[in-house]
Amino acid sequence: MSLREGVDRMVDRATLAIGLDPDTAKVIQACNMVSQIKFPAKVRGKVEVFTGWWAIHSAHRLPAKGGLRFAPVINQEEIEGLAALMSYKCAIADIPFGGAKGGLLINPCNYKEDELRDITRRFAVELARKDFINPATNVPAPDLGTSAREMVWIADTYKALFPEDVNQDACVTGKPINRGGIAGRTEATGKGVQYALQEFFRHPEAVASAGLQDGLTTQRVVVQGLGKVGYHLAKFLVEDDNITVIAVIEHDGVVINDGGLNIHDVRQHMAETGGVKGFPGGSYSEDRDEALLMECDILIPAALESQIHAGNAMQIQAKLIVEAANGPVTYEADEILRNRGITILPDIYVNAGGVTVSYFEWTRNLSHMRFGRLQRRYDEIRGHGYLDTLEQLTGQRASDQQRKTLVRGASELDLVRSGLYDTMRMAFQDIREIIRENPNINDYRTAAFAIAITKIAQSYYDLGLVESSK
Ligand code: NAD
Repeated sequence: MSLREGVDRMVDRATLAIGLDPDTAKVIQACNMVSQIKFPAKVRGKVEVFTGWWAIHSAHRLPAKGGLRFAPVINQEEIEGLAALMSYKCAIADIPFGGAKGGLLINPCNYKEDELRDITRRFAVELARKDFINPATNVPAPDLGTSAREMVWIADTYKALFPEDVNQDACVTGKPINRGGIAGRTEATGKGVQYALQEFFRHPEAVASAGLQDGLTTQRVVVQGLGKVGYHLAKFLVEDDNITVIAVIEHDGVVINDGGLNIHDVRQHMAETGGVKGFPGGSYSEDRDEALLMECDILIPAALESQIHAGNAMQIQAKLIVEAANGPVTYEADEILRNRGITILPDIYVNAGGVTVSYFEWTRNLSHMRFGRLQRRYDEIRGHGYLDTLEQLTGQRASDQQRKTLVRGASELDLVRSGLYDTMRMAFQDIREIIRENPNINDYRTAAFAIAITKIAQSYYDLGLVESSK
């Protein structure tokens, strides 16, 4: 079963659970538009023809938003499935965007930086000419194999094509701060996963029903993929929550340390050598498939799709799976794991932090101003006023440190983190509520899909695209 079919089956399950009209579900499931683009680029004196896609799953809200991935193995079906996940994710996180996804069939490791830049620019021209890059309609973001670097190249290409567009900065998100990006976007997906986990652990009954011990601190975690998402997430979990990452699975194998890995050092080693092999702070094995089956409390797949499938789901030993990647558990595996009582926090909720902060970045670009610029000093001055009054009334003086903390106005990063935290908390509470209220729903994935399709269906009813049967 392809990723797209798997996502559709998950939606079918939620449709049945909430009694949504099947015709409405069909409309929601259909991918509105997908375009395949072939374009030539000259590399080292030879012409190569590249294949890329942009899929818009839903356009009931615009712009359609989705990651743009560069990968050696992708196809249209997968892009459509990932675009669908984006629609549901935006609905759960209350982001007023439609869902989209783009991809370029390429192995970035085979090209030098200047070659990759030329190819990306050529692809961006093709996409922008078809309106698939546009602040009002289609806004890509970094994904697997792309980063802020590619977003800058794309934004610059768009600007050259449409210099009169005053909102040109908003044509992509995930840009570096000095190029119209927002504080906290690089690590947003990882931070969002951390907030999701923290929220889960704030609910003792949720923790107990997963068969876990109370408190994040005691958890032993395996992370697959130490890229943009996995690295920041693992680092936050170790530094802020004191959890122990006992294994990091990467493309070339796995490093294991029962006492806990130093995530920064693993990443540093990867930057220097290209993989985890030879990392001195843990034992190495080539067998990355076996590593997924390790005994641990929490397994966090943060790399690719379909890593947990019908062939290995029976052997998974983790009690909780946190889907930081998109679609890491297949539909068949999901059935097996649910029957085994293993709890899954699903991708469409858990990794919504990236698109949430992309939404903040987009609105920042449209307002042409950094968040907090107007009120930060005002808040600080008011803070001094309140504290001065408090000191006069009590006759006591605050220490310099207390004064500094209490009067501080919020920075852009403070505001971004606050908005992200709120989004992840609210979404989890919505998910818990539907599980409490609907006896047909007893897992987080079905609950998350139920929320998403209810919201999208309402939007379609409001627009008159589908008639409500009620
Ligand atoms: P990335 O390219 O930065 O990192 C992927 C990592 O996985 C790399 O370190 C790579 O070496 C590793 N990897 C590749 N093949 C592997 C294998 N077979 N086994 C183990 N590790 C392997 O990508 P990313 O942006 O971190 O995205 C990871 C996942 O998270 C993807 O599914 C993506 O769609 C999803 N996601 C990303 C974002 C985002 O903001 N970047 C947002 C939401 C979801």
